[in-house]
Formats: sequence, structure tokens, C-alpha cells
Amino acid sequence: MKKIEKTEQEWKAQLSDEQYRVTRQHGTERAFTGELTNHKAKGEYLCICCGEPLFKSDHKYDSGSGWPSYWQPINDASITEVRDVSHGMIRVEVRCARCDAHLGHVFEDGPKPTGLRYCINSASLKFEDK
Ligand code: FE
Repeated sequence: MKKIEKTEQEWKAQLSDEQYRVTRQHGTERAFTGELTNHKAKGEYLCICCGEPLFKSDHKYDSGSGWPSYWQPINDASITEVRDVSHGMIRVEVRCARCDAHLGHVFEDGPKPTGLRYCINSASLKFEDK
């Protein structure tokens, strides 16, 4: 995949403060505050930074966590997974493969068929009707 690289100033100029904090500074939005947590329309969820399609409404479910949750990404090539040992926990961070935006984390307590829970910040996503 062809990478998109921008300076911090360019990202800052195109994103809201919250979107910048989450995607470019590995932030986390407060649980139950994101616009897309309970969003149920049919469509795709794109990277807020670069527009790469990341998740689909067909794979979204209510995990009760307070963040948008999916049991699989739109395809494996659109995300990268990185070991994250910050905050005294061992987790797997999920990033946009195209622009390295921080999206959230993936946990192994999701529903069938994958058993995975992609726990994603609303601030990292924009919804597109399909
Ligand atoms: Fe991206």
C-alpha cells in the first residue's frame, strides 16, 4: 500500500483537536462520548485522516464498551497491528495501514466468527453511506 505522509502541521490543519489527539498522538476518546458508538446505518467507516475504507457496518456490533466495535476490518491490508505496552498493559494497537493513524486496539473477546473485538475511536473514523 502506498503510504501517505504529512507533517504534524498538515494533520493539525485538517483535523479537529480531538481527531488530532486521538489519531496522531495515540489518544483515546472517553467511553460513550463518540458519535459513532451507537451508529447503525449501512455503510463504510473510513479513516478520518486519509479516507481509507477500514470497517463495514456489516461487521459492527454492540460490545457495551462505549466505543465503536467491529469483529473484523474491511480487509486485512487496510490496517496494521502493533504491540503496545503503554499504560502497564500488553495490548495490540490498530493503525490505518495507509497513514498510520491510531485507530484503537484489538482484543480477543469478540463474537463469532472471528472472536475478535476491534475497539475503535469514533474520532478516528468518518462514516460513508453505501
Ligand atoms: Fe488513514
